[in-house]
Amino acid sequence: MSRSTDFDFDADVVIVGASFAGAACALAAAQRGLRVVVLERKRDPGEKLHTTGIIVKEAAEQTLLNRVPAPMTRRIEQVRLYAPNLSQIALAAPGYYFLTTDTPSVMRWLADEMRVHGADLRLGCAFTDARAIDGGWEVEGVGRARYLVGADGARSRVARRCGLGEVRQFLYGVEYEFPGAKLAQPNALHCFISKRYAPGYIGWIAQSPMGIQTGLALRHDAANARVPDIEGFLLRVGAAGGLPRHLKPGATRAGLIPCSGPVMDMARDRAILIGDAAGIVSPVTAGGIHSAWEHGWAVGRAIAAHLRDGGPEAESIAVEAAPRFRTKRALRWAYDRLQFDWPFDLLLHSPPLRWAAEQVYFHKRRG
Ligand SMILES: Cc1cc2nc3c(=O)[nH]c(=O)nc-3n(C[C@H](O)[C@H](O)[C@H](O)COP(=O)(O)OP(=O)(O)OC[C@H]3O[C@@H](n4cnc5c(N)ncnc54)[C@H](O)[C@@H]3O)c2cc1C
Repeated sequence: MSRSTDFDFDADVVIVGASFAGAACALAAAQRGLRVVVLERKRDPGEKLHTTGIIVKEAAEQTLLNRVPAPMTRRIEQVRLYAPNLSQIALAAPGYYFLTTDTPSVMRWLADEMRVHGADLRLGCAFTDARAIDGGWEVEGVGRARYLVGADGARSRVARRCGLGEVRQFLYGVEYEFPGAKLAQPNALHCFISKRYAPGYIGWIAQSPMGIQTGLALRHDAANARVPDIEGFLLRVGAAGGLPRHLKPGATRAGLIPCSGPVMDMARDRAILIGDAAGIVSPVTAGGIHSAWEHGWAVGRAIAAHLRDGGPEAESIAVEAAPRFRTKRALRWAYDRLQFDWPFDLLLHSPPLRWAAEQVYFHKRRG
């Protein structure tokens, strides 16, 4: 059989999803001269968001997200952690910060960046199906591609159509936006531990450049799905967290968050999953933007290195570049089974608990 050439393919890589993982992969591949097509089912990448959009310092400084225009972000240097009885401690680490974001604008900015770097971004185009062909994939509505990358989130259709691993365990998060509202203490990320309102995770209140965002996430059980009681949560914690009274929510953000670490079969035969589709989210903090970005970027570079320079197969790099989250998976296991309110009520101010909380929020993001 003759070896396939560039001319046999309509694209070097088709990426499904134009959020953090897809944008990073597209930018890395397009910057190295590949023909990149990005399919995004939303017409406006800033609509129907399902993320709070908080970016950790490492991502804000060490990735292309360091070019997000400053008015789209707000620097937060402190975490206020509240026990179920609403006693609180302030946590900070010298030099550490998070960025809350005007997330719709960030997503539109990413779309512009992809276009500027030569990616063919097709908004309002959903991926439906693909079939394996010699040396790549025939993607419905697009044509022949050497690689197919699924950056299509926690319920990846690419994973299903290509027979790759699927994420099976989730948290479910819901968030209200209060546009234009101001918190009493806007320079802290307010995090609330409560088995009643957030079993398996936490609730949060944050000041973003657009207003206030308040959310709640809990362990998702598909057989026994429970809707987070965000109204009850806000009644309980609103005053302690400095939320003004009588606010009316604007948009709601909601979605599933993978919480069991990377999927087993994330890459095979020139189909690769990245970001949430690959399960690459911290099982403890539920932060996925930084890891989605890094993984997407590594895969975009690996595809370019393989196609352009005969580098190693991108599938193996995708697996190697995926964080394992071993320690965090163990912590998740323990928290799912042993979460009680009383140790936090009793020990929040104790040095060991403060130390543990600072590790989670500020340091040791690997492992
Ligand atoms: C409520 C909530 C709050 C969160 N807050 C934070 C936070 O503050 N900080 C943080 O680091 N992480 C947070 N996370 C996690 C974080 O949002 C994700 O880990 C991150 O967005 C993953 O990026 P991604 O590109 O892999 O996938 P996603 O952001 O899920 O993007 C997938 C993209 O694929 C598109 N798509 C899906 N199917 C198709 C299809 N068939 N065809 C074409 N396009 C398709 C979608 O429209 C979407 O644009 C939060 C998650 C939730 C649910």
